[in-house]
Amino acid sequence: MDDLIGGIGTKEARITHLSERRHPSQSDAEAAVRTLIEWAGDDPDREGLRDTPKRVAKAYQEFFAGYREDPAVILGATFEETADYDGMVVLRDIRLESHCEHHIVPILGKVHIAYLPAGRVVGISKLARLVEVFAKRLQIQEALTSQIADTIQKVLKPKGVGVVIEAAHQCMTTRGIRKPGVSMVTNRMLGTFRDDPAMRREFLDMIGNAGGNRK
Ligand SMILES: [Zn+2]
Repeated sequence: MDDLIGGIGTKEARITHLSERRHPSQSDAEAAVRTLIEWAGDDPDREGLRDTPKRVAKAYQEFFAGYREDPAVILGATFEETADYDGMVVLRDIRLESHCEHHIVPILGKVHIAYLPAGRVVGISKLARLVEVFAKRLQIQEALTSQIADTIQKVLKPKGVGVVIEAAHQCMTTRGIRKPGVSMVTNRMLGTFRDDPAMRREFLDMIGNAGGNRK
């Protein structure tokens, strides 16, 4: 498991280091939110904002609950009785709610996952939970895509994995260059999905060719 967490990339290594750092108290977090309200130009003591620091601190515990969970444990329970099923397993349109690590604003979209089992399958709710654990961390879409694919590959050891994410980043749509309607598409293809164009095409066709001619 240490191997898994260390192997996903530098980001995971950084998270391990963070766990050794002193965790801020609830009042530290509330004071920080209060400062941001003042920074925005409002009065944190006015009635409507008085409980906001407490609410935001609580919301952060939900938004970032993924730091407290181990993705490998979630995928841990696999089934070997597959009646020799050897087709592709596709889970499409998994709702994605994450936060960009550059601006801490929402990334909203969909995740599509496919894998080709090698004798073992996993419950579909586990795949959705896996997405959630990585999504509930500060993210960039590219890292999120890799982390999901690499964890499935390492834990389930299928013949191949494909992950496609299409998402809109509010840091792009509501600030900065302001481009509403733009979505970003990322993918990571491993094993048969990387090596076999026909397999990859079948997956992309099943999810409606995300990023291509999809409505
Ligand atoms: Zn951003």
